[in-house]
Amino acid sequence: MKLLLATRNEDKVIEIKEILKDLDVEIVSASQFPNMPDVIEDKNTIKGNSIKKATECADFSKLLTIADDTGLFVDALDGKPGVYAARFAGENCSYKDNRVKMLKEMKTIPNRNAQFRTVCALVSPDGLIATTEGIVEGKITKEEFGNNGFGYDAIFKADETGRTFGEMTQTEKETISHRSKAFNKMIPIIIKYIKNKG
Ligand code: IMP
Repeated sequence: MKLLLATRNEDKVIEIKEILKDLDVEIVSASQFPNMPDVIEDKNTIKGNSIKKATECADFSKLLTIADDTGLFVDALDGKPGVYAARFAGENCSYKDNRVKMLKEMKTIPNRNAQFRTVCALVSPDGLIATTEGIVEGKITKEEFGNNGFGYDAIFKADETGRTFGEMTQTEKETISHRSKAFNKMIPIIIKYIKNKG
């Protein structure tokens, strides 16, 4: 059976393929469907966006489809940027622009607590809709540390390791990350769906 990852973000594809590597499915990504329209992420929750992405891509591809949406929720900024993490520094901004804006906004703020949250949505062409969530607690650092990962990784220090995701290898990030927690919770649901189909 094929499983479509509803994203063209290669950073995410690499992480997700690694997390799902033991599943007995052929993983394909949205990049393999050049004619598939981009999904407009216009919901105000990460759950709403992940269900929308998975539903639209499953409708187009007729494949079992999995999507994720991630938000960064910073306590001292009343939960901002939250679901709008990709556009924190404005439309078409870069990962770097977002990190620079975050460090600037947090410059004098003592409370550095933040959370990454991912909601993963699994949608099948025959009507299954399932969601799972993964959360990781951490702190916004005062400067960038490490070159690994993507997005806010260099300025998010995970409480569990005391290091930023940017300083961790992909395997280390995977043991504790919001995304791996959400996807790992989804694995039994995918296995059950495949079994019922077989
Ligand atoms: P998306 O909507 O799930 O693509 O995520 C929104 C934004 O959050 C991305 O553009 C990244 O800037 C950021 N982001 C998502 N996942 C991660 C991660 O694992 N580490 C760091 N930043 C992330």
